[in-house]
Amino acid sequence: MLQSNPLYRSTPELKAKPLLAVEDLAVHYRTARGTSRAVDGISLEIHQSETLGLVGESGCGKSTLGRAILRLVEPSRGSIRLDGRELVGLSQTALRGERRRLQMVFQDSGAALDPRWTVGQLIEEPLRVHGIGSLAERRARVARLLADVGLPADAAARYPHAFSGGQRQRIGLARAIALEPDLVVCDEPVSALDVSIQAQILNLLHDLQARRGVAFLFISHDLSVVEHVSDRVAVMYLGRIVEIAAREALWRAPAHPYTRKLLAAVPSLERRGRRAGRGIDHHDTLPSPYSPPSGCHFHPRCPMAVERCRAEVPSLRVTSGAGHRVACHLA
Ligand code: SF4
Repeated sequence: MLQSNPLYRSTPELKAKPLLAVEDLAVHYRTARGTSRAVDGISLEIHQSETLGLVGESGCGKSTLGRAILRLVEPSRGSIRLDGRELVGLSQTALRGERRRLQMVFQDSGAALDPRWTVGQLIEEPLRVHGIGSLAERRARVARLLADVGLPADAAARYPHAFSGGQRQRIGLARAIALEPDLVVCDEPVSALDVSIQAQILNLLHDLQARRGVAFLFISHDLSVVEHVSDRVAVMYLGRIVEIAAREALWRAPAHPYTRKLLAAVPSLERRGRRAGRGIDHHDTLPSPYSPPSGCHFHPRCPMAVERCRAEVPSLRVTSGAGHRVACHLA
């Protein structure tokens, strides 16, 4: 059971100056198959203490975008500013200081934990690498972090294999927040977990945000999960953002045909498993990012497509409501 359903949580007042500002970001890969436009000119902002959900089908470029924001993959063009400071073009040495402020949690953070290290050593490592505190201070901080993520103090002396998948994800989270980052990119952080454990991790993220003011970019293919954690939601299709809005506005009045299709396909978290999804099926697949359709990438799957959609790329423009933007010629 979710501790507090953010459906009833008001969207925080967004400060004028964003924590993170991404502008016209692109990641193009050249391979033997040609050039993949995994991320193709994305602009978005994330504010302090905000959760921006990022949704879309597998292969739409969400994870690449998350990794590019952390400079784990190199952007082909564009700008990433953290509190106004440009990250694109920074050397790895100059980036090191900013890395403390930006962390990532993966789908299975537990799998990335070195099985030869104790949980205490694993959580302490980022503190040690950044030269933070004495040994005694770091150990005290590890104890606080374990408490923060709901693990007992004696977990520090045990090894990762002694923990369940959900507990290992908590250990991954403790590592990610050890350096008190401003933004954590969460890439499908609950997809590998049972529904009951998912709720625990989502509640934990919510608590951490309330206590520490951290912002999250929450990447998921699962709208029912995103519905519960996000203040705003960005919908991604084949390397581009097609709609971005406050969560309530998006669920109440989705403006892009693809968003409507996604929403029709996914039952809510409470109803999950009780009815089959509709709208997106496996015969209706995402085109290849190596040869995206012309104009609006969505036109071959769009029930509303007109001739203009095949020729002209729709820009992401403001539609009704504050900050509600959509990339569709007919919206
Ligand atoms: Fe559909 Fe055209 Fe809008 Fe694209 S621009 S979503 S094809 S109506």
